[in-house]
Amino acid sequence: MRVRTPLFTAIAAGSLAIAALGAAGSATHAAADEGRRTVEYFPDSRGEGRHTQVPAAVPAKISRAKEAPAKTPGATTVTPLQRTGPSEGRLDLVIIGDGYTADQQADFQEDARSKLDAIFAIEPYKSYQGLFNFWLVDAVSNESGVSGDPTKDVVKDTAVSSYFFCDDIERLVCIDEKKVDAYAQQAPDSDIVFVVSNSTKYGGAGYSGLTSTAGHTGIATMSSDNDRSYLIGAHELGHSIGLLADEYQYAGYGTYPGPEPVEPNTTQQTAEGMLNTKTKWYRWLGESDPSGGTVGAYEGGGYYEYGIYRPTQNNIMRALDTDKFNLPGREAMIAGFYRDADLLTARTATDRTLRATDVLRVDLAPLTRDGLSDVSVSWSVDGVQVPSAQGRKVLNAKALGVGKGTHKVTATAVDRSAALRDPEIRKAASNSVTWTVSR
Ligand SMILES: [Zn+2]
Repeated sequence: MRVRTPLFTAIAAGSLAIAALGAAGSATHAAADEGRRTVEYFPDSRGEGRHTQVPAAVPAKISRAKEAPAKTPGATTVTPLQRTGPSEGRLDLVIIGDGYTADQQADFQEDARSKLDAIFAIEPYKSYQGLFNFWLVDAVSNESGVSGDPTKDVVKDTAVSSYFFCDDIERLVCIDEKKVDAYAQQAPDSDIVFVVSNSTKYGGAGYSGLTSTAGHTGIATMSSDNDRSYLIGAHELGHSIGLLADEYQYAGYGTYPGPEPVEPNTTQQTAEGMLNTKTKWYRWLGESDPSGGTVGAYEGGGYYEYGIYRPTQNNIMRALDTDKFNLPGREAMIAGFYRDADLLTARTATDRTLRATDVLRVDLAPLTRDGLSDVSVSWSVDGVQVPSAQGRKVLNAKALGVGKGTHKVTATAVDRSAALRDPEIRKAASNSVTWTVSR
């Protein structure tokens, strides 16, 4: 990751909903409350989500599990399943297994791979997988399987104490955050954490707006051997990376009281209103959407039934009967990728003056060429483009025609993806590195 922007928008919306329900009168946002967490879960594997507040502490009979590792890297085996670049320029996704014994670590690695394969088959994850590092952390459990599977009375001694029936909700899988943090810190960096719990039963959860010592702001849990559970992870990244709102609503919730939501995929405005104010997803209105139907302003979303609109009839931020993001959601996700990751990385140090014969080298994140991304590298000297160097990743200043004296040489990577329409986001989808060259 690089410099973090606050990721509390999704949780703020969640807490607002909880407060309105009367479930927690003082709810402001969950991260501020040490004792409770706002979590999202999906009671039905093809349905809409729900939010609830649960105690942060794991019940005593479940937390008897073994101690977490010392918070020093190297105490546990970490496998770099995918490493495409330095952590400063990548989204680091840490996957921790729970309910796998010492003999079952190969099984964990296989389960983690299959979850990642399923999530990264979904656009825009698919096109932008090259902006991620994947770290698999081998957490060894004393017992195989997890608590609450198959029935509530089942208790297993596992590494991060994941358990179904969290707060009496069968499909809600909670974890011991402190233990998750300790394992996450075994990886070189952690932006987002997945806990894969060894079970065939459908379930999972999303924790967002966390302030972890390991650095991550979100944790998603999902059962390992259920073929729908990966959608929970794919949806939760929509909150933590795309800063997207939930597009579902609760029956009886009534009219959204305002103000205009900060999330990019909900609004109080009608389609006409968005066109007039040139805000939210007005650039996508009328387009045919990957989730089916046309982008418009559909009433209901952000937990309320009336007075708030979403871009499409359905999509992954509304219900898990689809794996498709809608066009505005897709653009917000790509914006989120570039908030934390860079296309271009300098391989030649930029902190010293180079000579004209020195080699300048850059790495380009390995994005897929047949997907949504459309990336190119260009070079300039003192701000003037050098067309002959277009697309090069290795060259020397001489080849750029650098004259006598001291000059600034800049390499710039730009993503001109048609999935991006907002000029601000297109701008953020570029990055440059600059060297000083003297001859
Ligand atoms: Zn959600």
